[in-house]
Amino acid sequence: MTTNTQDPWLLTPGPLTTSLRTKQAMLHDWGSRDANFIETNRRMRAQLLAIADAEEHHVCVPLQGSGTFVVEATIATLLPRDGKALLLVNGAYGQRMAKMIDYLGRDYLMHETPEDTQPDIKKLQSTLIADPAISHVLVVHCETTSGIINPLEAVADVVARQGRRLIIDAMSAFGAIPLSAKTLQFDAVMASSNKCLEGVPGMGFALIRQTALETCQGNAHSLSLDMYEQWVAMEKTDQWRFTPPTHVIVAFDEAISQFIEAGGVAGRNHRYSNNRKILVDGMREMGFETLLPDPLQAPIIVTFKMPADPAFEFQSFYDQLKDKGFIIYPGKLTVAPSFRIGCIGALGEPEMSAALKAIRATIDHMGVANGAAKAA
Ligand SMILES: *Cc1c(COP(=O)(O)O)cnc(C)c1O
Repeated sequence: MTTNTQDPWLLTPGPLTTSLRTKQAMLHDWGSRDANFIETNRRMRAQLLAIADAEEHHVCVPLQGSGTFVVEATIATLLPRDGKALLLVNGAYGQRMAKMIDYLGRDYLMHETPEDTQPDIKKLQSTLIADPAISHVLVVHCETTSGIINPLEAVADVVARQGRRLIIDAMSAFGAIPLSAKTLQFDAVMASSNKCLEGVPGMGFALIRQTALETCQGNAHSLSLDMYEQWVAMEKTDQWRFTPPTHVIVAFDEAISQFIEAGGVAGRNHRYSNNRKILVDGMREMGFETLLPDPLQAPIIVTFKMPADPAFEFQSFYDQLKDKGFIIYPGKLTVAPSFRIGCIGALGEPEMSAALKAIRATIDHMGVANGAAKAA
């Protein structure tokens, strides 16, 4: 891929390696109220809806900041002050949503499973039946903490049948794992510019069911995080309420064009799945063990258990890989020591194969016989 060969490859969950075209899109300055910029903004919003087949019933509301900002803003706007959320938690991003609702001072329950375990759909159903006060269910599509894929269709199905509303943090999955409003009932799905759509960091967006958003005036606790007001202002003028991250938006628009040229969600899923296969096969050949069994492993980021060999030292492993041009990611698990390697960004087969060679050379240099973890 054409990027900028001077930079190391980012095998992380974002920010990611971006293409040269995406970087070059930022070599200009734009007036935020200029017609060209407004057109770019309009196109970006329309294309984001199209990625989720959500043009008919949803609207795209972008927001300045990292992904966390748009998750917090969407929850604050959609969850009424007298509402109650049920959170399906199996990692740090689910925990973070609970923390947001703590800040908001609204009511919630958690259904928590270990980081390598999907939520229990039967338990979800019985919890909803037992507690009619629950108005919204919140779920993370791919929990980036471990890389686990959560069973979105099954969750959405139960939530819809019980007449509740669904909010999806699809931050690390959007654009790479299919999610269609035609087959899945949801009130909101949130994602950001710098994950599978391969833009640069600086903005998030939510696709929100219009009839739900229309009822949300006054819910938010915060002026700048009020997605209702953000939407109303943008519909009225096609302009952002407050200074937009112009360069981020123009780069995102360019990244989305490349996404469409490369076959949309199917194309991206194919490339990332191939990256994951190369990575997992190659790592297993060296004895490394994945945390997750293959059916639960999303093609986004892979968690490897820390090798048992006493010659293995993570910081030195990380530093030597960085010297060879690859940035990996520390673990975030509470269950076991681990590290992560991403499959997303402007990377393909040559980069994944080169990363494996670098890993092989590094463990050889460290005198690590193989990557096997401690027996559980
Ligand atoms: C990246 C990510 C976020 C947002 O994180 P930021 O660091 O604020 O961009 C939220 N949820 C999930 C699942 C993520 O992967």
